[in-house]
Amino acid sequence: MARKILHLDLDAFFCAVEEQHNPALRGQPFAVGGQPDARGVVSSCSYAARRYGVHSAMPMARALRLCPALIVVPVRHGIYGEVSRRVMAILSELTPLVEQISIDEAFLDVSDLPDDPGEIARRLQTLINERLGLPCSIGAASNKLVAKIATDHAKSLAREGSYPKAILVVPPGQEAAFLALLPASALWGVGPKTAAALAKLGIHTIGQIAAWSEADLARRFGAHGHDLARRARGEDDRPVVTEHEAKSASQEITFAHDVCDGEELRRTLHSLADGVGRRLRREGVSGVTVRLKLRWPDFTTLTRQTTLPEPTDQDGEIYAAALALFDMVWREGRAVRLLGVGVTGLTPTRRQLTLWDTARQRERRLLVTLDALRERFGDGVVRRGKRR
Ligand SMILES: [Mg+2]
Repeated sequence: MARKILHLDLDAFFCAVEEQHNPALRGQPFAVGGQPDARGVVSSCSYAARRYGVHSAMPMARALRLCPALIVVPVRHGIYGEVSRRVMAILSELTPLVEQISIDEAFLDVSDLPDDPGEIARRLQTLINERLGLPCSIGAASNKLVAKIATDHAKSLAREGSYPKAILVVPPGQEAAFLALLPASALWGVGPKTAAALAKLGIHTIGQIAAWSEADLARRFGAHGHDLARRARGEDDRPVVTEHEAKSASQEITFAHDVCDGEELRRTLHSLADGVGRRLRREGVSGVTVRLKLRWPDFTTLTRQTTLPEPTDQDGEIYAAALALFDMVWREGRAVRLLGVGVTGLTPTRRQLTLWDTARQRERRLLVTLDALRERFGDGVVRRGKRR
């Protein structure tokens, strides 16, 4: 039995919320984001602004050059967060199997509902519009990968200059056929680098990836090659993971060449732990379980985990736990293809404040300061002295 997965994406979410608060913005070219003189960037832009070539993540100064009449609206994260919670609450009325993937996007597993996915999508779209006055687009398919691409594709086809409010259903069995004509870059995991490498082989569409030998893709791209082949066929068996289960943060790296040098592996582990710690602090959460993921050159993968005495969001503690796991499974000289560090069992950090001793508080303040510096000036700017 095929699953019924919906991917819902609010259309120009920040802009739609701002329009509600200030109806004069309706139909106008405007962008929510930072001021141009403060080197601000576009967080979200109205569909009228998109006609001028304005898009999100673009420097605001550039957006204003493209569209001199552009109205710049300051970002109000608090309000968007509140509205987002209301949207997610509506989704939860339909099914408890909701996975929020960003402030304005979620997957739903509606396999247990009797209606067909297109009907459910239309009902959901109407409900969100009636209750919150917000436009959204929905893709439906037998898995997350295809549902998400369906949404993106449907939005790209929408009439220019207005909210797409698109719905696209890919029936089970049609996944590969739907993907075949789309550009390779529409596939998850195909960034500019991979797209360029594929183009060199004459591969431009997802269908061409699917038709290519999987063994050859694996030879050229490693584990990623297998993923590419599977995704190009429209295969994806990942479940919709509810918020409760999803509470984890992880980072992993696939080496360009297999690594057997212990020092390099430990250094990598350290920087992965730093990255995970940073993400936890940014999101204001701490986790109690540290997980190590390790893949050998023959693609066998193992994970090991350990539970800490209390939740942490600190690089050093995450690294120490990951290193202990690593030392248990790695033998000197053995080649490694992929390393990953993750922290699960997350809870808001605020609640633990009182448990902290002052040394930990000091450590945390230092880490938060370093995070802020890196955020402003880039990763290379500050590096701590060597730990242990
Ligand atoms: Mg959106």
